Amino acid sequence: MPTLISTPMRPKTNLLNFSRADMEVFFADMGEKPFRAKQVIQWLHQYGVDRFDAMTNLSKALRAKLEEVAEIRTPEVLIDQASADGTHKWLLKLDNGNSVETVFIPEKNRGTLCISSQVGCALECSFCSTGQQGFNRNLSVAEIIGQVWVANKALGWDPLANGKNERIISNVVFMGMGEPLLNFDNTVKTIDLLVDDFAYGLSKRRVTVSTSGVVPALARLKEVSDVALALSLHAPTDELRDVLVPLNKKYPLREVLDACTNYISGDTRRKVTIEYVMLDGVNDSVAHARELAKVLKGVPSKINLIPFNPFPNTQYRRSSDAAIVRFREVLIKNGLITLTRRTRGDDIDAACGQLVGQVLDKTQRQQNKRATG
Ligand code: SAH
Ligand code: SF4
Repeated sequence: MPTLISTPMRPKTNLLNFSRADMEVFFADMGEKPFRAKQVIQWLHQYGVDRFDAMTNLSKALRAKLEEVAEIRTPEVLIDQASADGTHKWLLKLDNGNSVETVFIPEKNRGTLCISSQVGCALECSFCSTGQQGFNRNLSVAEIIGQVWVANKALGWDPLANGKNERIISNVVFMGMGEPLLNFDNTVKTIDLLVDDFAYGLSKRRVTVSTSGVVPALARLKEVSDVALALSLHAPTDELRDVLVPLNKKYPLREVLDACTNYISGDTRRKVTIEYVMLDGVNDSVAHARELAKVLKGVPSKINLIPFNPFPNTQYRRSSDAAIVRFREVLIKNGLITLTRRTRGDDIDAACGQLVGQVLDKTQRQQNKRATG
């Protein structure tokens, strides 16, 4: 088994990269008992501690040893924006000058955090600003779970200080930047932490992986996890989906829907959430709705219609409210559970890939100015 302890030749080990199983290996390598893993996971993720000297149930000697070989390093908040409707959006700085965004959406009975799994995305969906930025790199576990850690803190969660361990974040969705199933191992380890009772303790129904349809990874995911699944479908035919979600050329619609059905098989209460972005004049006609109802026959699903969020230089427009209502009615008439996602945080552009886009645009503008001025 590879050792997880750093050596003088290697930088310190960031303990936020570890699931509980990894942490057990780490402590075993140090000659420590497995229950240390549980304790440290609790300090990090239940109590939001980022200093070894606060871990009072570890001996002084062990804390000193950890100080030497390990660190607790979270992403850094670059921008924190709060919308009038309570939505929060953070731009987080990572190593090597990269940044990602995380969005918190409060609702009556829940608080949903939308997290990123990659810097950019390689899949180039034509209506997605992240996809148009290209792919940079995968996020580490520390960078993915770190978004939950940082958002919790920014929202005022500090159980050690105020004695309360109420979770403000009740749901986590992988709907920020990137394709989580193309950063498979780190996504799965993050899920492990999210549902671990010694870490975030969320129920598996409250953690949702959203994918554009990476078929082989869906089969692998079923083997290791049973969290909720959302599929970014966006089109009822291969012809149109090839244009909107180019990954469709590799994994066509029928294969993707079968893989999703297989993922939730074995539990008749489960449903796949079908995400469908509403693009004016592209995929929003009554005929498209009828076609969609047809292809979803036999797929236990509920549909989420997402009004398109425009970004600079996009060729697409958001469907009109009337078109969205009409589309939804056809689906409902066909017996499909269909919701329209409310647009939230419009005043802070709390949509996929947009804040990073703005920061990049601004940097670009400044560079251009410098070059021309
Ligand atoms: N890569 C994954 C998860 C991140 S994208 C996926 O594609 O599912 C999260 C959701 O935001 C997806 O359903 C995606 O299609 C949608 N999305 C992307 N760009 C959007 C835009 N400009 N307006 C509305 N929804 C968008
Ligand atoms: Fe990537 Fe998802 Fe955007 Fe497509 S919609 S480019 S898969 S982040």
